Amino acid sequence: MLQLENIHKKFGSEEVLKGISLQVNRGDVISILGPSGSGKTTLLRCINLLERPNQGTIRIGDLSVNTEKLLRKDILRLRRKTAMVFQSYNLFANKNTLENVMEGLLVVKKMKKEEAKAKSLALLEKVGLANKADHYPSQLSGGQQQRVGIARALALDPEVILFDEPTSALDPELVGEVLNVIRKIAQEGVTMIIVTHELSFARDISTHVVFMEKGHIVEQAEPKELFSNPQQQRTKEFISSRI
Ligand code: ADP
Repeated sequence: MLQLENIHKKFGSEEVLKGISLQVNRGDVISILGPSGSGKTTLLRCINLLERPNQGTIRIGDLSVNTEKLLRKDILRLRRKTAMVFQSYNLFANKNTLENVMEGLLVVKKMKKEEAKAKSLALLEKVGLANKADHYPSQLSGGQQQRVGIARALALDPEVILFDEPTSALDPELVGEVLNVIRKIAQEGVTMIIVTHELSFARDISTHVVFMEKGHIVEQAEPKELFSNPQQQRTKEFISSRI
């Protein structure tokens, strides 16, 4: 469903991604783990071309994009097949919760207002925020804002949702409510890639776990395998330092 082939990314002379290849099947929940600075967020941002890789191919559904020859129409098509949930929520401060979720449906999907409203209210219900539809982001907790971010991503019916450390800006007591929403939509079969530091969560919900270091995928496996029987020394050290 999604295939990355030999993705390279440099910032100046620093090569941050050194040839990443990854296959994601429909319904997969892939967690990306690794030390800070290993390129996890950059990889996620390369998938929807928020960062432009210097080399490599991205295939998603029927679309194949050679990142060395990017066409504007390919960038738009690729972005429409993905949705991103950001660490810092990135909600529109001047729009209420319902309007934040509706925005993509009106602007990107060109949906009629009543239809967009009904769909958005159903999604707010799903993330437990039906009673906050008319609240503005500043009136919500971080956990609630992030749940709006998730509803907004779901609204676009993307082929894959990309989560960039979705709980790392949250106070510890708010992490659980966001992880529970992510767990629920994972169980519904939504394909997702999650960059996270929450190891026990990754072990719990992932179909596959990818361990990255210094711009490489060091190891990938099913969570049971990777956590209980890591093959690479670096993976062992990382996991034992975190548990
Ligand atoms: P991780 O998510 O694993 O912590 P990142 O992908 O955020 O790693 O960063 C990998 C490396 O790329 C780091 O050395 C970081 O400083 C560098 N980097 C990330 N984004 C940029 C940018 N926009 N400009 C320059 N360097 C960047």
